[in-house]
Amino acid sequence: MNTETSQFATPLIDPFERPINYLRVSVTDRCDLRCVYCMAEDMTFLPKAQVLSLEELDRMCSAFVDLGVRKLRLTGGEPLVRKNIMWLIRRLGRHLDSGALDELTLTSNGTQLARYAQELADAGVKRINISLDTLDPDKFKAITRWGDLERVLEGVEAARAAGLAIKINAVALRGVNDDEFDRLLNWCGEGGFDLTFIEVMPLGEIGEQRLDQYLPLSMVRGDLSKRWTLTESEHATGGPARYFDIAETGQRLGFITPLTHNFCEACNRVRLTCTGTLYMCLGQEDAADLRAPLRASENDGLLKDAIREAIGRKPKGHDFIIDRRQNAPAVGRHMSVTGG
Ligand code: SAM
Ligand code: SF4
Repeated sequence: MNTETSQFATPLIDPFERPINYLRVSVTDRCDLRCVYCMAEDMTFLPKAQVLSLEELDRMCSAFVDLGVRKLRLTGGEPLVRKNIMWLIRRLGRHLDSGALDELTLTSNGTQLARYAQELADAGVKRINISLDTLDPDKFKAITRWGDLERVLEGVEAARAAGLAIKINAVALRGVNDDEFDRLLNWCGEGGFDLTFIEVMPLGEIGEQRLDQYLPLSMVRGDLSKRWTLTESEHATGGPARYFDIAETGQRLGFITPLTHNFCEACNRVRLTCTGTLYMCLGQEDAADLRAPLRASENDGLLKDAIREAIGRKPKGHDFIIDRRQNAPAVGRHMSVTGG
């Protein structure tokens, strides 16, 4: 019988001496949008039988918390389209109450936030990342294929009213939203939101030419610096972004640059899919099945052994490349599988 608890557990340390204390969980691969860089329009989703139940997701997450994970981020697909997701979030809130978890948070497209923001705050969620690439309704529709900007803006407002700290994530897309970056900085400044730009990453076949979408953030930062006073910030969220303070707005600006700046040295995270597969690196194929050990036993001994074994083969880093010779995705799965 496994009686290991966080008090006694040896923390998860990978082969490169990196402590692993951050778990991102894709609670569903489904989504109510079809962003062009993320999904094809006619996606085939996983059969429901393969997907972990909410109770199983709770057990998985709790096993990681027992093994020293201090931060949980629920993502997807769109986490808030999973039926009864609030049950899981409220349930995981017990680890915040006990002090075992520092943070429980989400990445969301915002479409369901008008409905859920207050409940999230009540469950102990303090911060949320909302993905929004443009403030132009037509462009928003073009990027997301199915989305309605107004609805997302209502969601952002609801999150603010509920007291959640908001970070806006925007994928930088050449020729699509690159004329709007100043507007986004201003809008986030007025709303009191941080903003992070993300470089488009080569994940999954999406039927679009990535090379056309790819915009190096080093160029974006250089350009923004001509009009905004950006000072490198000490701020760290345990994530891969580099942050700058924006003197003019008092908010922060982050850049996630997997392609132009390698952030793997400080990687503290692993990613769990909604079928219980653990990816030790976003940019590598190697994975561990945790669903079998979870289902094989009612106590968590086998599961925790499998988690430790998996962390023991976390790779040093990824090797994403987008160039003309290699326009195929670096890994075959879509972002909605591992949740970004
Ligand atoms: N549906 C939620 C959302 O959009 O926020 C959560 C899941 S989504 C996969 C998480 C983040 O990944 C979003 O900010 C999205 O913009 C980003 N993303 C998706 N595909 C991407 C890609 N190929 N390259 C870079 N970022 C991507
Ligand atoms: Fe859905 Fe998020 Fe992917 Fe857009 S980025 S299709 S909202 S999972």
